[in-house]
Amino acid sequence: MKNFLWGGTEEVKRMNWVAWDIVTRPKKLSGLGTNKLKLANEALLSKWIWRFRSEEDSLWKKVITACHGKRRKWSFFPSNSNLTGVWKNIMSLESKMLIDGKRINLLFKGVLGKGDCIRFWIDVWFENTPLMIKWPLLFALEKEKCCLVKVGPRRLARVVNGDGAGRYSTSSFRSLFYSSSGSNQGYRLWKGGWIKSKCDIFIWRASQDRIPTRQALARRNILIVSVDCILCGADTEIVDHLFSACSIAASVWEKISDWIKIPPVFAFSFGDILSTHERVGENRKAKDIIRGLLMIACWCIWKACNEKFFSNGKGCSTEIFGEVKSIGFRWLKCRSSHKSIVWSEWCKSPMYML
Ligand SMILES: [Zn+2]
Repeated sequence: MKNFLWGGTEEVKRMNWVAWDIVTRPKKLSGLGTNKLKLANEALLSKWIWRFRSEEDSLWKKVITACHGKRRKWSFFPSNSNLTGVWKNIMSLESKMLIDGKRINLLFKGVLGKGDCIRFWIDVWFENTPLMIKWPLLFALEKEKCCLVKVGPRRLARVVNGDGAGRYSTSSFRSLFYSSSGSNQGYRLWKGGWIKSKCDIFIWRASQDRIPTRQALARRNILIVSVDCILCGADTEIVDHLFSACSIAASVWEKISDWIKIPPVFAFSFGDILSTHERVGENRKAKDIIRGLLMIACWCIWKACNEKFFSNGKGCSTEIFGEVKSIGFRWLKCRSSHKSIVWSEWCKSPMYML
């Protein structure tokens, strides 16, 4: 998977620009949302824990209880360490894995309903802690440790997943796993955007300073002739320079703001460019078009750098601007609801159809 993402093979190693832990974070936490196989496996195993508490009359549950249930009757789940097998592996996971400092079984909470499968002391049903943990001295005095909860003529039943939706899904398990980790302050992939994913992922990388700018390569001990910006040569090639301070980039932004008819783009950092669309008008569709065009412009500036270095491209702002218009037209026509846009009108104003 890493090789696929970074273009390496079994024989050729490529530089991994973003830590795997960040790549595998959910998109809402500024990751790529790539699933970790280990986490997927744990989520699927955990489903059996959930099923054990939520299914009342399953044959498999009776078999597990018969085989494993002879030891401490008030433990969370029946488990006989002398017996090997899948259930032992699941119980091993249950006892070792902590999510947000809690064992998995504490994430399953009983709710009012029919049935009698909730144990008063052992299961989580009142607040978020089993009563046997909340009041251990009282629990020690209890003679009927597995007594069930009853309220009037009704009984409490059912077990739901940690997010309270009543269903178990591997994605909800994953959300719980990440709910306490990391911040979501970084760039989030554009859900429902009309640009291609490769462009969106490029922006995601650039926002974390994880693209091979000359300074980034030098920092990683790659031998390069100079760290100066390949487009203007006036300053060190870093992300913020390349997309904001660079004179070529500034000229591109000037042409684009004239074309889109928005106030001049004054960007002091890469983040300023990414938030420009939020400061122009109220029309949601217009904002989306502007957002996409600014991202495409960053992508084209980066392409121009590479073409100038590898294939003697000109790297001039007029060429970059022309490519922004061309790519923007193709992607918007093919990937959004604006199927009927016309090139000649598009060149005059990308917002003509709104
Ligand atoms: Zn420059």
